[in-house]
Amino acid sequence: MKSEVILEIKDLHASIEGKEILKGVSININEGEKIAIMGPNGSGKSTLASIIMGHPAYKITKGSIHYKGENITEIPPEERARKGIFLSFQYPQEIPGVTTTNLLRQAIKSKGAEIKITDYKKILKECAKMLKLDESFLSRNINEGFSGGEKKRSEIFQMAVLKPSMAILDETDSGLDIDALKIVADGVNTLKKSMPSMTFIIITHYQRLLNYVVPDKVFILENGKIKHSGGPELAQKLEEKGYSWIQEEFYDEKNEEIIEGC
Ligand code: ADP
Ligand code: MG
Repeated sequence: MKSEVILEIKDLHASIEGKEILKGVSININEGEKIAIMGPNGSGKSTLASIIMGHPAYKITKGSIHYKGENITEIPPEERARKGIFLSFQYPQEIPGVTTTNLLRQAIKSKGAEIKITDYKKILKECAKMLKLDESFLSRNINEGFSGGEKKRSEIFQMAVLKPSMAILDETDSGLDIDALKIVADGVNTLKKSMPSMTFIIITHYQRLLNYVVPDKVFILENGKIKHSGGPELAQKLEEKGYSWIQEEFYDEKNEEIIEGC
């Protein structure tokens, strides 16, 4: 079966406050793939995630984003969410006065889907159980008083309930101890098993999550550009060698340019 491209990013340049962060990113992702985007801190990973979701603070100066064949470069984030794109934040915010149960019910309604309250409650319970979250958190305000690990599991819980077509997980593994990391990875793998067409973009600085959620492809972002791509072995190489080898190659490239220019 020929796989369909779900996300096509072409020569994307983007800036914030006049500073160029993305300097020509091109990536194609097929429906149902699990891909990892890795890279040193400050390379532009969260910027890329925010831009795919449509964060209005970033200015796209060149290039385009197509999702399921449609140009979504200019459409607002809520429409992208309705089309099935989901972003789990690196730094989840507290939302006083809004419970997890209410937020998700509104999110489901805004997609135009009708769901009976009894079915909804059943789904919430099942997902909470899968992610080993105490049910009491459902009636608490979003992220208020949650530990770092609970915030990350809550993000994955929201994803499990909403079942998006494409989920972007921005450093979901950071701040998790190994037990919590395994719970999150199990959650992702279980969801993927029940919905094989679901696409995952896993953004991570470290390789350890990728031991449990094995990606089909790995892309390495460095200084706003994709510098390498490959299979899961690329993540392994990073684990062994660190990011310095990419940066060394980058500086070699620069030196070559200087030499050529002489
Ligand atoms: P990563 O997620 O790979 O660590 P980010 O996308 O968060 O990288 O950041 C990339 C670069 O963009 C960094 O140099 C960061 O300081 C800068 N940046 C990100 N957001 C802003 C902002 N709101 N204002 C100014 N600079 C920003
Ligand atoms: Mg980041």
